[in-house]
Amino acid sequence: MSYVTVIGLGAMGSALAATLLKKGHAVTVWNRTAMKAAPLVEAGATSAQTPLEAVAASPLTIVCVSNYSDSREVLDKTQQGLAGRMLIQLTTGSGTEATELSNWANGCGAAYLDGVILAYPSEIGGAETSLFVAGSEDDWASCEPVIRDLGGGSQYLGPNLRVPSTLDAALNGPLLGMAIGVIHGALMCESEGFPVAAYAALLPAMLPVIGHQSEHLATTIAQNRFGSPEAALNTYAAGLSLWVQDSQSRGINAEFPEFLDGLLKRAVAAGYGDEELSALIKLLR
Ligand code: NAP
Repeated sequence: MSYVTVIGLGAMGSALAATLLKKGHAVTVWNRTAMKAAPLVEAGATSAQTPLEAVAASPLTIVCVSNYSDSREVLDKTQQGLAGRMLIQLTTGSGTEATELSNWANGCGAAYLDGVILAYPSEIGGAETSLFVAGSEDDWASCEPVIRDLGGGSQYLGPNLRVPSTLDAALNGPLLGMAIGVIHGALMCESEGFPVAAYAALLPAMLPVIGHQSEHLATTIAQNRFGSPEAALNTYAAGLSLWVQDSQSRGINAEFPEFLDGLLKRAVAAGYGDEELSALIKLLR
């Protein structure tokens, strides 16, 4: 059991605090809108009256508010109480913001870890749930049990505080690219009169294929190995042209396939057509 303070009780902060309580920790909470603490107090948390009181209550404070400037607004009120304490910032932000806040916290005598949460609030506490965390290895080691209580699949990414937010953003493409593809796919099904529910049922079977392909593409980039593809960039480019024509002939929005088609046409024109799809990175660099 650890003593942990959670600052910020929005959708995510409340889930963090509730999970820590469930896992047996002694939790102190603070939120700007005090009434949001009520359900957590009912579940056993202690509600602090001020951010300073909240930080003083535990050796470890987790912050999860809207953004870094809001974090700083709250943390400025805790300055006198931070020396010798551990701060974990789980608010989403940029690498520059993480570095700046770390410098500020260290200047106040606090140790600092920065992390991103790759999950919805309902997934907090799951065995597979992942938080990406950076900071000193010793600080990670001391906080790992608490962090793993929040996400069993959490990973320590080393001392560079810019890395968690970089990876968070680097996962936007796979997640949002696929999400927008699914939405466009539903549009195609609607135009065909094919039930979107049946399309939805097909998608989980695609996930392993997408997973393997994504890993393969990133590996070819890591190894600078673009030759002898199983499916050449030309093949993808031809498929994309068909997809654009199909969307246009249906009279449905074709912006998404047109965008992808434009990129691959430029990669073919640049001479990468016989290489791996991932050779597109040479155009984008
Ligand atoms: P939210 O429900 O909108 O909650 C925002 C929290 O920030 C509230 O506790 C709010 O306090 C507080 N806040 C905002 N401005 C403040 C200020 N100036 N001073 C003090 N407190 C302030 O957002 P959320 O979903 O919990 O997200 C919190 C963070 O987690 C974000 O950085 C988000 O990107 C990240 N995250 C969220 C999810 C998700 O699925 N929700 C997933 C991954 C990461 P009040 O209650 O007083 O307004």
